Amino acid sequence: MVLGVDVGGTKVAVAAVDGVTVREAAEDPTRKDTTEELLDGIEASVRRVTEKAGEPDAIGVGVPSQIDYATGTVETSVNIPLAGVPLREELSRRFGVPVFVDNDANCAALAEAHILGEDYLVMLTLGTGVGGGVVIGGKTFRGAHGLGAELGHVTLNPDGPPCPGNCPNRGCLEAYCSGQALERDATELATDKPDSRLAQLLGPDGKVSGPELVKAAEEGDRDALFIFENFGRMLGVAIAGFVNVFEPDRLTIGGGLSRASHLFLDRAIQEADARALPALLKRTKIALAEGGADAGVIGAAVLAAQEVAAPNLRDTALP
Ligand SMILES: [Zn+2]
Repeated sequence: MVLGVDVGGTKVAVAAVDGVTVREAAEDPTRKDTTEELLDGIEASVRRVTEKAGEPDAIGVGVPSQIDYATGTVETSVNIPLAGVPLREELSRRFGVPVFVDNDANCAALAEAHILGEDYLVMLTLGTGVGGGVVIGGKTFRGAHGLGAELGHVTLNPDGPPCPGNCPNRGCLEAYCSGQALERDATELATDKPDSRLAQLLGPDGKVSGPELVKAAEEGDRDALFIFENFGRMLGVAIAGFVNVFEPDRLTIGGGLSRASHLFLDRAIQEADARALPALLKRTKIALAEGGADAGVIGAAVLAAQEVAAPNLRDTALP
């Protein structure tokens, strides 16, 4: 039996997982005042599950972070206090079993691949930022040290807007197809057109929020629809590139923004269709993620099960 742990900015989810089936689960708010509190919170959630499910053979952990996979050290994180923390070592010490730590977008992609039974899959996680995951031969591709497959930071336009992520570039996929990009575009348009509906949606913080923009587009507002048209077009440009490089069985779109996919996914597929090499595109299914709310814990657990069966760590023995 393996445990999957999904550490997010608002909640920590833990589950005992058998294959891709969740057996026992717990969920708690993320304690994020300090690193120590965060780790104590993760430990408490894990112990609640192991009390019922028994001791696991290994634990997989997904975090919203850049990770040196071989050492399990978290370099930097989004929204949680983990930076320069040897997380694998720290959690292995607390639990006395092997622990494996990976980026949450990688875990989501691994879950999706195993739930669908696809060996070659590329996943884009569209949320505040853009996460990416690449599964090759049923395993996560993560580059030499685990920091790779940052698909959100592929350049679509060298002269584009500054990337909103912790990134020096301009015109990245994340600069066009993230929640932050949508809010920026909506706010700019609202400011340029004071008589528009978007201008009426400017909040006290001087911004148009993502949910307000989605609502305006759903109600047919032309400015809002224009923003999603551009979003879909740029996403399609990126998808065409990923199809040409990876030729996956499936290219999956997940993350919170995928709930607004009716506003951009058809346009993205149309654009990808016009740009990708036809022989590759016709072999790739482009679709929304199907893993559901448990994808994070399932992916982390699949990772742990894979590492126990056939260690994939470079240059380091298992703890
Ligand atoms: Zn970037």
